[in-house]
Amino acid sequence: MGVRPGLAAVLVGDNPASQIYVRNKIRACRRIGAHSETLRLSAGTTTDELLRTVERLNGREEIDGILVQLPLPTHISAQRVLAAIAPEKDVDGFHPVNVGRLVSGQPCLAPCTPSGLIEILKRSGIGIRGRRAVVVGRSNIVGKPTAMLLLAEHATVTVCHSRTSDLPSVCREGDILVAAAGRPAMLTREHIRPGAVVLDVGINRIRDAAQAERFLGHDTARLDRFRKTGSTLVGDVHPRHVAEVAAAYTPVPGGVGPLTIAMLMSNTLAASQRRIPASGGPPPHGA
Ligand code: NDP
Repeated sequence: MGVRPGLAAVLVGDNPASQIYVRNKIRACRRIGAHSETLRLSAGTTTDELLRTVERLNGREEIDGILVQLPLPTHISAQRVLAAIAPEKDVDGFHPVNVGRLVSGQPCLAPCTPSGLIEILKRSGIGIRGRRAVVVGRSNIVGKPTAMLLLAEHATVTVCHSRTSDLPSVCREGDILVAAAGRPAMLTREHIRPGAVVLDVGINRIRDAAQAERFLGHDTARLDRFRKTGSTLVGDVHPRHVAEVAAAYTPVPGGVGPLTIAMLMSNTLAASQRRIPASGGPPPHGA
């Protein structure tokens, strides 16, 4: 297309998980031939310093996407920083302008994990229109945008949270059940409608042997690996129960996570189209 997409990742402090996430994103850029760079700032960086970094990236023509890895140290105003990113370079889709566009059904850069969920459903030939979808979690990063995207695809959507009463029966209404609560194996057999499609966004590291036995007892290979390494990742849905009850589900690890990065690449490519004069800006989400 005559344009090489460029992504800048800003990493503040030395959170080990954030370092891994950023490394994986930069690797993905290399794989697709995009330009990428990581700006590493010390944990003591102030909000004003970070705002100046974002401003500089906003002004650089060869940078199409700006990603400020969350969480930021608590003394930094994440809200101010995210709002400072130029909306057309906001490849995470967290800027209030993109949030507003998403809610009102206008073309936008949509958050990566939620759009990855839609992509999984579409590419698996699972219909969304007219289905009942239940989303467990109402965060701005996952739960709410997922609900909006499912609504845009004509699902009938229910959003649950920590104050939802009788969560199991609400969840069982879902033909499509999205788990994004950040609680290991919280959704069990009683939450899953037989034959439902379950998308498990949760990424929880567990180190407790009894928990590992309870969640992974059916999977001797994984249990052996847990005994060797002392930890493993589980989602928000009980791995054995979902395998027994659901018609289709995303495993953890390896299900939703890789799609998040793929959608970041997709957003970066979409953002780079603004440099092609005839393109008229980013395509609608999901395009
Ligand atoms: P948050 O902690 O921001 O939000 C969690 C949500 O779950 C909240 O809305 C909370 O309700 C709700 N919740 C918590 N406990 C319960 C409960 N017992 N019953 C019902 N609802 C509950 O998490 P995120 O949305 O950022 O992330 C969710 C999970 O997804 C995490 O495990 C995270 O690691 C993972 N994740 C994975 C990604 C991927 O690429 N696969 C990307 C991003 C996140 P309330 O609002 O009432 O507190």
